[in-house]
Parts: sequence; structure tokens; C-alpha cells
Amino acid sequence: MEALCKNPKLDLEGALIARDRVGIQDFVLLDAFTSENAFLENLKKRFSEDLIYTYIGTLLVSVNPYKNLDIYNQKQMDFYMGVNFFELPPHIYALADNAYHTMLTEYNNHFILISGESGAGKTEASKKILQYYAVSCPSSAILDTVRDRMLMSNPVLEAFGNAKTLKNDNSSRFGKYMDIQFDHEGEAVGGHILSYLLEKSRVVHQNHGERNFHVFYQLIEGGEEDLVRQLGLEKSWQHYKYLAQGECSQVGSINDKNDWKTMRNALSVIDFDKSDIEHLFGIIASVLHLGNVHFEADSQGHASLLGHAELRWVSKLLSVNVQVLHEALTFRKFEAKSDEVLSPFTVDNAIYARDALAKAIYGRTFNWLVNRINQSLENQDSSRKTVIGLLDIYGFEVFHVNSFEQFCINYCNEKLQQLFIQLTLKAEQEEYEAEGIGWEPVQFFNNKIICDLVEERHRGIIAVLDEECLRPGDATDLTFLEKLEEKMGHHPHFVTHMLADKSTRRTLERGDFRLLHYAGEVTYCVVGKRPPLTLTPLHLPASGFIDKNNDLLYRNIKEVMHNSKNFIVRECFPSTETESRRRPETVATQFKNSLQKLTEILMAKEPWYVRCLKSNENKRPGHFDDTLVRHQVKYLGLMEHLRVRRAGFAYRRRYEVFLKRYKPLCPATWPHWRGVPAEGVAKLVEHLGYKPDEYKMGRFIKGYMTRGEAKTTDNSEYLA
Ligand code: ADP
Ligand code: MG
Repeated sequence: MEALCKNPKLDLEGALIARDRVGIQDFVLLDAFTSENAFLENLKKRFSEDLIYTYIGTLLVSVNPYKNLDIYNQKQMDFYMGVNFFELPPHIYALADNAYHTMLTEYNNHFILISGESGAGKTEASKKILQYYAVSCPSSAILDTVRDRMLMSNPVLEAFGNAKTLKNDNSSRFGKYMDIQFDHEGEAVGGHILSYLLEKSRVVHQNHGERNFHVFYQLIEGGEEDLVRQLGLEKSWQHYKYLAQGECSQVGSINDKNDWKTMRNALSVIDFDKSDIEHLFGIIASVLHLGNVHFEADSQGHASLLGHAELRWVSKLLSVNVQVLHEALTFRKFEAKSDEVLSPFTVDNAIYARDALAKAIYGRTFNWLVNRINQSLENQDSSRKTVIGLLDIYGFEVFHVNSFEQFCINYCNEKLQQLFIQLTLKAEQEEYEAEGIGWEPVQFFNNKIICDLVEERHRGIIAVLDEECLRPGDATDLTFLEKLEEKMGHHPHFVTHMLADKSTRRTLERGDFRLLHYAGEVTYCVVGKRPPLTLTPLHLPASGFIDKNNDLLYRNIKEVMHNSKNFIVRECFPSTETESRRRPETVATQFKNSLQKLTEILMAKEPWYVRCLKSNENKRPGHFDDTLVRHQVKYLGLMEHLRVRRAGFAYRRRYEVFLKRYKPLCPATWPHWRGVPAEGVAKLVEHLGYKPDEYKMGRFIKGYMTRGEAKTTDNSEYLA
């Protein structure tokens, strides 16, 4: 092992690269790399040479270069195809290839967890992996279609689910898990996408310097004249209230016109016909018109419609009756005994109902789109397949003002960090104990305490929030906050203005709570826009935690939508929902449950990790901000991971698998070993002359493995 790694390495062009200049490509291999400073220095040295990838064993660390590097071409793909992981410089293709070949040889399921904060490069990494499989896996003519559809699902989902934020010009505002299914010959035969909690509030509101979802601008900038006319749109984003608030439409790195073409083309590859496309863009345009529907108060203080023309467009595009829609936006329908009673809205109520409708239409259409893509990726053949799952989910986020969405996103990141800890640090230590192999415990911060704080049944923040949401009467964002203070008062990771000591109190407003996440502190604003706190709760704006968690849409609005003649709208608002008397689950609870399911899906597979680091906050090409990178290295637990890896054995296989692969190296095991696999392995390593500290053999009793997975731990992969 040493001999191989201390030699200069061949780079891709075949030239020799001196080790000093490029640093070390796998942190596990060098003795000096135990300190954080040395770790950072190595990353920085490599980064300055445009070597953005480094390994910690089989974990890939990637530092966002913010510039296009010529390392993602066909030549590079060919280079990495089928080559042993550690034999070439670290690359995302090497990880993808290794997962693929392990899946084929061991015939089991895998997943690649890509994590890192917003803008660190997760989505780019997931696209590179998908492209690698699309290009490098064997394929037949029929399967080419599946492959193209898989690739083309990206521009479509990005158009509808990504937006410019202050952190990232192409920020994913939904979580995505994609299974790529392979048959026994390794051909990609199908796929399936699960999406997680789209940030719908962006449809009606964007912070300064941010944009709505890309698709709106693409349609306005790139939409063909005929189409734009049919949809009744103006070719100017400033015209639309839902697009103008962030005062930001032109973004240097985004070309909406071109992206429109790419997306339209992608839709046809996914098999959308003319009618699908007309209906789909009818819905997108209807949202823009809806945002321009305004109300004023009449003499009795009731909402009265301003902007009949806009409402007519909405009803035309959604194929619903304009009078009925008008009524649903200005009156609430109650059932009193056997009668229906209409109660007029105030202007605030009407705006609330309008925005709720816009969010619902957009959010549901997004889910419809994902289902539709899934139909086109579905594999008809029912024979057993193995899968590689790709998880690209929104990264940890801290803005100047953080709301319910950041709370959900950061909670999701806590869950993934917890999964990582369970599968690596904790599992590793437990495995050594179970195998009876000597072990020096490594200290690490276990964020389970924060996950519990958020999600624990009856006691966590989500439970308290739900309780307030379901409580009839006077529940408000502030009463929610008071309940939190009552219940979480002494929790080491939770603080509010009331609970804080003097110095912290200055940094917290009364309507905030702060969580000490594994990745740092985040202050969440529980109420919407900051109202003067003297206002009675009734006047609070409708965008605090309670509202967002309730995600209320009045029943008569749902009924109107269900009666639409636009088939997508009708599918999005099924009758079962309006007929049901049960209160739907809150947003946070739905999200919590979907993350629980995701954890179960992932736990049943073999993990691979890509940890993406942000090199600087300003998207500056090639700039390495030491403090920023150090912070990420710390909270992602990379040093602990390295320590665990270094203390342990990087390569480990079940006895049978190990024997199968290496038996040709020893006359006693080649061509057949008829005895117990573990004893065969013992013969093999003895023959190879390994020293006792170079390998360890896990627990087995008289030839029976104690646990189905007794393992031999060995570095011989490097030597073999
Ligand atoms: P995330 O999904 O983690 O929020 P993205 O993958 O969208 O972040 O990356 C943000 C931006 O950083 C991209 O739009 C691109 O400009 C740049 N970027 C990310 N990864 C790479 C890479 N490997 N090479 C070049 N630029 C990259
Ligand atoms: Mg992303």
C-alpha cells in the first residue's frame, strides 16, 4: 500500500505530477494528515491546481470551483470506466463507476448521498453521475429512449423546481431522490423519482434579489409569439406581480431563452404531446394572471374584485367558470344545517385565498409533472432489477431572514447528517465491537439530539406546531412561540428572546427562535413579515409558521378546480379531497413522514457519499475561502470520518466475496476452495505474507459466521 501511494502518480494525460504540488488524493493514506490545518492545506493545494476532488477512503470530497473544468468529457468517462477506484485520480466518475460495478458484482442496491450546503455543487454532481451512467452503461436501441428520458427529466424539473436565490443562481427548491434501475447486464432500464416538499411560497413571494421558479421567466423570454398570445401574456416580467417583487430577473449565468428551448425539447423527449404542453403552460400562465388579480374594499369593508380581465384569463386558462371562481375568491362557503351560507371576505382574506390558490395550483402541477415523468421512465419488464439511488436534496440554508421553509430544509439536513453518522461513524464503531476487533473510539458530535428536538412525537417542535395549528380558536404564531418556550425552555440547542442571556438577547427578536444546528446557528422568524407586536394577532400577515404549516385551501376553491376542463387541473384536485371531512396532514408532518420513508429506503441500500464544499460565498471562480471551507469541514464531520477511516480498514468484504475475487492468487484456493470461506481467506492471506497489523478477520465460530455479515477487513485491494 505504502509503496504504491508514495510513488508519483500518473495524471490523466500520462504526465508525471509531483506529489508536493497536487497534494494527496486520499486523506486516508498519509500519516501527516490528522490535523484540521493539514487537511485544509491539502484541499487548498489541490484546489489551486483545479483538482477539486479528494477522497477519504471511498467518500468523495468535492470543492466547487465555480468555473467549467475540462474534466467531464467522453475521454474522461472512458478513462474511468471499469478501472479500480484507487488507481486513478479522484473523480465523481470513479465513484459512480465503483458503485455501478459493485452493484453488478454483488447484485445489491446502492445509493449515492450527495450533501453540502446550498450552492456547494450537489445538483451538478448528481447530473454528472447521471450523465456518466447514460454514456458508459451498455445500452440497446430501446433503452436509449429510457436513457434520454432520464437525462431530459433534469431540465424539466429544474425549470419548474429551481430558482435563483441569494446563495445559488440555480437553487433546487425541492428535494429529489432518483432510482436508476439496471438489469442484470448492467443496462439502465428504468427510473423513478421521488420529490420532496417544493418551496411553494416562492410562487407568490420572493425576497429581494431572488426570483420565482425559472419556468415563468423562460416562458416570457423564450415563449413563441403564438403561444404567448394564446396565453394572454405580456413579454415583460415587470408586468407580473408574482415576478416583480424580487426586482431581479436578469441573471448573468442564466439564459432564459435558451433554457426555454432546452426545456421544450426535453418535454417532447419525455413524450409530452401538444395537448399536454398547452394544458401545462396554460396553468403556468394562469398563475401569472392570478397574481395580477387585485381587490379593494367596498363600502362595507368586503373584498371587491379589481381586474376582471385578469380573472377572465385565469378562468379561461384553467377552464373553470369565471363567476364561480370569482365567488370562491371573494366569499367563504359554510355549511349551516342543510344550507350553504356565503360569508364575504375582507381584502386580506381574498388576497390570502388568491395566493393559496396560486401556490396550490403550482405545487400540485409540479407533483403531477413528477408523476408524468415517472410514467415515461417506468420499466415494463418485471424481472428483478438492482438500483442505484441518487439523492440530491436542498442543502443547509441560512439567510438574513429564515422562515418555515428554511426550518424544513435544515431539519432535512439534520436527518441526512444523522443517517450519515449512523451509517459511518456509529456503524463503524459498532461493527468493530461486533467483530471483536480492537478499536480506539473516536469522539464525534451526534446530532440526534437536534433531530429529536424537531421531530419527537408529542414533544418536538413539529408536534407543538401541529398542536397549535389544530387548536381551534385563538392560536397564532406568537402563541406557538410561547408554547415552544414552555416546552423547550431548557434545551441546549434551542433559544428565544425570552430565554436568552443578556448578550444573546440583543441578537434575537421577540418573534424568533434560534436552533443550534449541527452546521451552525439559525434564527427562524416565526411570524411572517415583522409586524409591530402591538398589533392584535388578527392583523398578522398570512405567512408565518402557522399558516405555512396549515397550508389551508378553502373547500369551495378546491371544488371549482375539480370541475375544471383542463385535465391536469382536474387530476390535481381529485374529488376524494373535497368529499373527505378529514383534516389533511400538516405540511411539517407530511414532510417528516416522507423523510422517515426516505431514511428507510436508504437504510436498505449500500451507501456512497459525495460531500460538496462551497469554496466561497461570492461564486468567484477558483477562490478558496479558508474560513468558510474550514467551517464546512468541521460541521460535516470530515475530520471524524477521516479518523475513523484511518483507525480502521478501508477495504472490507464478506469472506465468500473476498475469496471469490482473490482466490487465483493462492494455489490452495485456486481454482476451488471447498472448505469454509473464512478458512480459505486465512490460507490466502497467509500465502500472500500479510503482516498481522495489515488485516483483521472478523468474528466467526468454527467456520460459521456469527452474523450473516462477518467480514474480513483488509487493505489488500491496494496490493492485489
Ligand atoms: P447545490 O445543488 O449544492 O445548491 P449546484 O450544484 O446548483 O449547487 O451548484 C451551484 C453552482 O456552482 C452551479 O450552477 C455551477 O455554476 C457551480 N458548480 C457546481 N459544481 C460545479 C463543478 N463541478 N464545476 C463547475 N462549476 C460547478
Ligand atoms: Mg441543488
